[in-house]
Amino acid sequence: MKRSLCKIIAASTGMLRVSATASAAAPAGIICNEEPDSSKIAVASRIIAGLQRDMEVYTDRGSGPFLAAIYDGDGNLVAKMPNTVVIDKCSHNHAEMNTIKAAEEKLGTYDLTPFNLKLYITAEPCAMCIGGIMWSGIKEVYYGVPTQSVEKITGFDEGYKPEWIEQFKKRGIVVYGNIERELGEQALRNYVAKGKTIYQPAREEKN
Ligand SMILES: [Zn+2]
Repeated sequence: MKRSLCKIIAASTGMLRVSATASAAAPAGIICNEEPDSSKIAVASRIIAGLQRDMEVYTDRGSGPFLAAIYDGDGNLVAKMPNTVVIDKCSHNHAEMNTIKAAEEKLGTYDLTPFNLKLYITAEPCAMCIGGIMWSGIKEVYYGVPTQSVEKITGFDEGYKPEWIEQFKKRGIVVYGNIERELGEQALRNYVAKGKTIYQPAREEKN
């Protein structure tokens, strides 16, 4: 990414926000915890947009409106899974957890660290999945819709997860967020419009 094409604001939290002015490769609003890399953003945009477009096929089969995929360093798909909480009757079966489990089964290991894997998710991971990702050995995480939008559009509760992106950085895990956000928000709105299941609705605000 050329500095002339984007304005990088280092937030007090240490997180970087990319605000593009003229580059299709660096859409405005993308956040990350490393110096922005336009090639990573371009790859993630292509993959996450594909996942967002695939969403309806999965939700029409009963899956929740979240999809994840793991790719290796050469760009090969290792695993791809939706959220299957409702159809499996298991609260753990979020898209990220299902995809990590599938990758570990495929590779025959509980530690993905040596495989240099990247996780792409249609939405920001919840409190549970942050832990699951951290323990898996995934090296890079790219997500679409931020938690605030997920909760506002769907009513799902994403849990308490302060400074998770900074915590990932401390552990050497790269994070990019808000990739293809609008496409993802529309996919969530489509899910809600169809009257599909919202389990574990958002907490009541108690002041
Ligand atoms: Zn989750």
